[in-house]
Amino acid sequence: MPKPVIDYDKCKVTKTCIDVCPMQVFEEEDEKVVVAKPDECIGCRACEVQCPEQAITIEE
Ligand code: SF4
Repeated sequence: MPKPVIDYDKCKVTKTCIDVCPMQVFEEEDEKVVVAKPDECIGCRACEVQCPEQAITIEE
């Protein structure tokens, strides 16, 4: 199962992942982005490719 992992050393909370994820996997919480629904991830890699900080890795 694909699972997105956020590197918080790189994340600058642009919220690009929230905008591009077709499955609403990410949510904003306390001024951070969290992987709120990891089980919904379909592994499309839109978040990984489009994050301007390359802060997301999809683990298989
Ligand atoms: S890989 Fe696709 S479905 Fe999974 S979290 Fe990233 S954008 Fe969402």
